[in-house]
Amino acid sequence: MNIQARVARITETFEQLYPDAECELHFTNHYQLLVAVMLSAQTTDVNVNKVTPDLFAAYPTPEAMMHAPIAAIEEKIQTLGLFRMKAKNLQILSRQLVELHDGIVPSEAQKLVQLAGVGQKTANVVQSVGFGIPALAVDTHVHRISQRLGLVRKGSDVVSTERNLKRKIPRSLWIKFHHQAIFFGRYHCKAKKPACQTCPLFDICLEQQRFDYL
Ligand code: SF4
Repeated sequence: MNIQARVARITETFEQLYPDAECELHFTNHYQLLVAVMLSAQTTDVNVNKVTPDLFAAYPTPEAMMHAPIAAIEEKIQTLGLFRMKAKNLQILSRQLVELHDGIVPSEAQKLVQLAGVGQKTANVVQSVGFGIPALAVDTHVHRISQRLGLVRKGSDVVSTERNLKRKIPRSLWIKFHHQAIFFGRYHCKAKKPACQTCPLFDICLEQQRFDYL
């Protein structure tokens, strides 16, 4: 199967499985989205959604967050992994938004990645989810299933995975593919116990035989 046929098979299957896949973080504006995505590193969206209502109620704007005591931010997000570092980045990021961008989240990737705690993946999610700009964020799920399904080479790093996926997947599908691949990795092709026996992509998967114990 050539790569075009493989991409078509995978994207069509994802569309059948998860036609309504979307970001599962809760947010009501670009600032909340940026903060929620930043907080989601090393933890689940479910856990982030548990802490953000209180956090945003107490500090709804970058101005409010930049003036919040660091201990108070830590207390609000203490159930998340790396919460001390995230609290510090949150305060710095909020100050950067106020001082450099008039309190408004920029849409450009170059500006987003200059904010504290914001890497390429976070910038891509904010661009695509917040602004509808085609971007293809590679998180742990996208990275894993792209290798298992032969879209990128096994052992590829995140940067080359993003570059290769962008070459192979039509630009018009980037945003949808990102969400659908996350759903597939989160609910079906899990890291430790993928559901190979019921997998609609079993016949084209490169790693299914590793999970014959199921
Ligand atoms: S066959 Fe198993 S490892 Fe391969 S994509 Fe399906 S669930 Fe994942």
